[in-house]
Amino acid sequence: MLGPVLLAAARSEHIRRLVAGMPLTRPVVDRFVAGERLDESLAAVRSLTDRGLLVTLDHLGEDVTDRTEALRARDAYLALAEVLRQEALGDRVEMSVKLSAFGQALPGGEDIALRNALPVVEAAAQAGTTVTLDMEDHTTVDSTLAILGELRARFPATGAVLQSYLYRTEDDCRSLAGEGSRVRLVKGAYREPASVAFQDKRDVDLAFVRCLKILMAGQGYPMIGSHDPRLVAITEELARQTGRKPGSYEFQMLYGIREAEQRRLAAAGHRMRVYVPYGTDWYGYFMRRLAERPANLAFFLRSLAGR
Ligand code: FAD
Repeated sequence: MLGPVLLAAARSEHIRRLVAGMPLTRPVVDRFVAGERLDESLAAVRSLTDRGLLVTLDHLGEDVTDRTEALRARDAYLALAEVLRQEALGDRVEMSVKLSAFGQALPGGEDIALRNALPVVEAAAQAGTTVTLDMEDHTTVDSTLAILGELRARFPATGAVLQSYLYRTEDDCRSLAGEGSRVRLVKGAYREPASVAFQDKRDVDLAFVRCLKILMAGQGYPMIGSHDPRLVAITEELARQTGRKPGSYEFQMLYGIREAEQRRLAAAGHRMRVYVPYGTDWYGYFMRRLAERPANLAFFLRSLAGR
């Protein structure tokens, strides 16, 4: 099983330096990452919004090891929010944030991450948009949901991500299915032990459907973060059954993955949001994309071999 190996490598500083130093890595990374700089990523954003797609922008970064780095991550998001305000993009573009980039794993990290997230969420509101808190490994879920609660007390539209591979997630879906809640449901991208997460893909998919039913039947705004054609079809069917109109939920997919399907859903009248990562700290994100699909790894290795 290559996936777990790649997910372990995603956390290795040694392998990060090795992969980042390979001259042919860049073209493969470019398939999943919109650019290193904000202005480069804005070109990608424009080409998506011009085609009727919505966007969530992620300034790449995670697992910071000191407060200065966390402040730098916060400032990158403040700069992004200011650009969204100036360019009047707030109705089409929101922001996705990883709290580990804001210092969540440092001593006293929950307070630090909350203090860094608050001004970002505030700046997003001033730009007419929202922030969604990405979900990282299972050790962060309680802390992330606690920070979400604090942020939602002042900015109720702040969104969360729930991962169907965790046993706890059905309960979390019930807690977050109320009015005004925005939840992105995903399968989950980290390497998790059997003590907390389903290991079998089929169980993860079945759990996704159970969670989806809870969210679609609830009063909140479900965001379906999956490229899985069966889950897209089940969402459409559940929308019919629950009487949800297209504007009351949305599909989300990652930049560079199943682009024709993204355009098809938008053309069919669905709200379709593309998760667009940008920045220099692409390693962890890139390795998780390789782990999800062996064909990506083969593509990467072929490019390294110069074919
Ligand atoms: P899969 O069964 O993995 O894939 C279904 C099909 O989609 C595949 O057959 C293939 O055709 C295509 N596909 C899927 N992945 C790839 C890929 N990497 N490259 C090429 N084709 C692919 N996970 C988290 O843990 N936390 C988060 O905060 C988070 N945010 C996300 C935000 C969005 C918008 C999306 C779409 C995903 C996010 N994820 C997050 C990742 C998610 O957990 C899954 O790892 C990822 O979406 C793959 O699962 P899938 O539902 O697409 O289904």
